[in-house]
Amino acid sequence: MNLGDKIRDVPDFPKPGIVFKDIMPLLADAEALREAVEQIAAWAEPRKPDLILGAEARGYITGGALACRLGAGFVAARKPGKLPWRTVAAKYALEYGFDSLEVHADAIQKGQRVLIHDDVLATGGTAKATVELVEQLGGQVVGLPFIIELEFLNGRDRLDGYDVYSLLQY
Ligand code: AMP
Repeated sequence: MNLGDKIRDVPDFPKPGIVFKDIMPLLADAEALREAVEQIAAWAEPRKPDLILGAEARGYITGGALACRLGAGFVAARKPGKLPWRTVAAKYALEYGFDSLEVHADAIQKGQRVLIHDDVLATGGTAKATVELVEQLGGQVVGLPFIIELEFLNGRDRLDGYDVYSLLQY
């Protein structure tokens, strides 16, 4: 199966000039969903993660499936103010201005092996912020698998020294 056939390009979303890579057709296709999770799991398994950290919001879907498949726990990185317990935060740059992500302060124990997962690696700002969150809590980032990598945005450069993987490159 060609997983790329299940990614829908949506021009000018969420703003003019952006081509949004929509993974919903892939998620809705049972065979494609299983294939994507299995391929990422095959890459992730030897890295022996204790936890999968998924970024809000699409990172939760395949992140949860991956955690279950790998026998790992799941940690949610959320936008500010959404998590009910004590949190740690990391700020990251957007095209205009800043945003931040939070995780629960007790979500990761010192020395735990953490895999960071999201649907798309674009500029790498989101992924870099989640790396900082994991490391603030004493976790070890053992890999960053994505479904899609937008290579022309050079997100990988911001994650220099980390083990980055993607199923589909554009
Ligand atoms: P980044 O620039 O790597 O920090 O990406 C920011 C977030 O927006 C990530 O969670 C991506 O999933 C999402 N994102 C960025 N660009 C796109 C795109 N062209 N299509 C779909 N999602 C995107």
